[in-house]
Amino acid sequence: MLFNDLRKGLSVTIKYLFTRPVTCQYPNERLEVPERGRWLHALEKFEDSGKIKCIDCGLCERVCPSKCIKITPIENEDHTKNAAEYELDLGRCLFCGLCVEVCPELALSMTDKYELAEYDREKFIYTKEQLLNSKSKEG
Ligand code: SF4
Ligand code: SF4
Repeated sequence: MLFNDLRKGLSVTIKYLFTRPVTCQYPNERLEVPERGRWLHALEKFEDSGKIKCIDCGLCERVCPSKCIKITPIENEDHTKNAAEYELDLGRCLFCGLCVEVCPELALSMTDKYELAEYDREKFIYTKEQLLNSKSKEG
């Protein structure tokens, strides 16, 4: 009886000894995130001019169920508008992705950055500059 139990236990141990682990050694190793995952947002800019793509249509602000987007517009000389300030409070964000979906200018996207923990609630409020640089390594 005892030998049988020991044999069963050992067979399970030996079986798992040679199977690939499903966990990874975080933070030294990182899992690939899905391409369509919803993580930290990014504001897009034009590659040639470096100008922000957001035209301050206000759709993302209106569609957001948590009301965590706040835009302050600026009017240009040609009467077009851009976002002078763009604030996104990630502490309240549901990561539903509606703001990205609704944007007619493709001015908003999501990065693959998911390590967003902070000790201070204020640090969850991302500014326009942070969102414009959130695709870079340091952002
Ligand atoms: S992902 Fe959803 S909750 Fe977060 S800012 Fe966009 S619309 Fe709001
Ligand atoms: S929906 Fe797009 S263009 Fe409109 S205010 Fe939001 S980010 Fe800017």
